[in-house]
Amino acid sequence: MEFTSTRNNSLSVSSAQAILQGLSEEGGLFVPRQFPQVDLAEACRLDYCRLARLVLEGFLSDYDPAFLGQAAEQVYGANFGGKAGQLSKVTEDVYSLELWHGPTCAFKDYALQLMPRLLVKAKEMLDHTETTLILVATSGDTGKAALEGYRDIPGIAIKVFYPTGGTSEIQRLQMATQQGDNVAVYAVRGNFDDAQTGVKRAFADKELAKKLAADNAAFSSANSINWGRLVPQIVYYFYAYGRLVEQNRIALGDKVDFCVPTGNFGDILAGWYAKQMGLPVGKLVCASNKNNVLTDFFATGTYNAKREFFKTTSPSMDILVSSNLERLLYHLSGCDSQLVAELMASLAQTGSYTVPAGLLEAIRADFAAGWADDETAAKEIAARWTDSGYLCDPHTAVAFRVAEEYGRETGRPCVVLSTANPYKFPAAVLQALGQPVPQGDFDALRALSACTGTTPPAQLAGLEGMTERFDRVIDPAEISAVALEK
Ligand SMILES: *Cc1c(COP(=O)(O)O)cnc(C)c1O
Repeated sequence: MEFTSTRNNSLSVSSAQAILQGLSEEGGLFVPRQFPQVDLAEACRLDYCRLARLVLEGFLSDYDPAFLGQAAEQVYGANFGGKAGQLSKVTEDVYSLELWHGPTCAFKDYALQLMPRLLVKAKEMLDHTETTLILVATSGDTGKAALEGYRDIPGIAIKVFYPTGGTSEIQRLQMATQQGDNVAVYAVRGNFDDAQTGVKRAFADKELAKKLAADNAAFSSANSINWGRLVPQIVYYFYAYGRLVEQNRIALGDKVDFCVPTGNFGDILAGWYAKQMGLPVGKLVCASNKNNVLTDFFATGTYNAKREFFKTTSPSMDILVSSNLERLLYHLSGCDSQLVAELMASLAQTGSYTVPAGLLEAIRADFAAGWADDETAAKEIAARWTDSGYLCDPHTAVAFRVAEEYGRETGRPCVVLSTANPYKFPAAVLQALGQPVPQGDFDALRALSACTGTTPPAQLAGLEGMTERFDRVIDPAEISAVALEK
């Protein structure tokens, strides 16, 4: 399978090269030239690991299939406690695809547990012997999921930077207690933007790159625009569909809608790829919080990032530039890389762009969109708990709300992608349930457990009292210097 760039489709690279390189040199994203077709009846019968192998083989045709099968077993088997792709019925016709049964309780585990293995293999296939140094700026979830994914992977070192006071106590401890010989974690004085700007500066620093090269090392990022992070997310759309068939909720071939809490547009785009591969998808419903730039885009065809930024109770969706949307624009414009390059130049220069009417129509045929603010999401958490006995986190609640509102076709099931475990946000969930909220995260965890009779995941509850390995606090200006430290 060949990959090309959204901004220059005369370019062709292999999947290994797309994964190693991350971003095309002119700034475009790598996209597949074709969509491998899947035999739906067969896909519905496969267990998660074998299904993952099938999807990966289709796109990563330059990789050894046996390697992909082995990697899928290692990543999605015992590692996910046998609960990869677990589907729960919540209301009549609405299901929750629980994507938080992985090692760090974040849906990003699906991609970040597999991606390092794909990267190491790509280096081997392309004769790259240098040490890969991954730098990550994080506001919480990505940092921990990346640390856990890359820990003790040969030929790779990872350094994570988070803003002091910018994460929850639990998120901070998840990172500060990280195990592994190739990992380092730093608190950066300032907010997330300060940490991210520092990391971007390090990536762009030519002197730094030279010093690294002299040491046979090179930078890389664990960014969500890498194809290696997208492709693992296609698998669970097929898997959820297979469970609905298996449980006789639908007949093979019936359409299913998917509603996805969206930030960078990676997770929902994976559903669109699944549809191109033959999955009977009705609508892909894009759920946003108060940062509703995507809702406006689907309504008007104008993507306008020049707007106020809101901090919400669903922080992983607090994003104004959804990078992966670029891939959709490329495919649905008939692979018009010149148009995409123009739109992205407009976004960079003016903060907005408008797509041609025909492109908007094509997008609307596949997608619906809606949004919910914090107060509405909190009410949804309470309603799902009281009416359905289902406890969900604020990100998932936004999607439940939007799934109820977007104008569904009656009788068509809707699968909501549940992206975070409620115990990652115990204070917000307690408050939504109308309970008093204690000061510390662990007291909130216990209070949530006591009032709902549910059990917090051991990975989170077990953090209390664990020894912290990393306690360094640095200034943003020091990021480049510590990146070189052994
Ligand atoms: C990252 C994340 C999202 C957004 O996913 P995208 O692929 O960026 O759209 C939603 N919910 C949670 C909990 C996340 O961590």
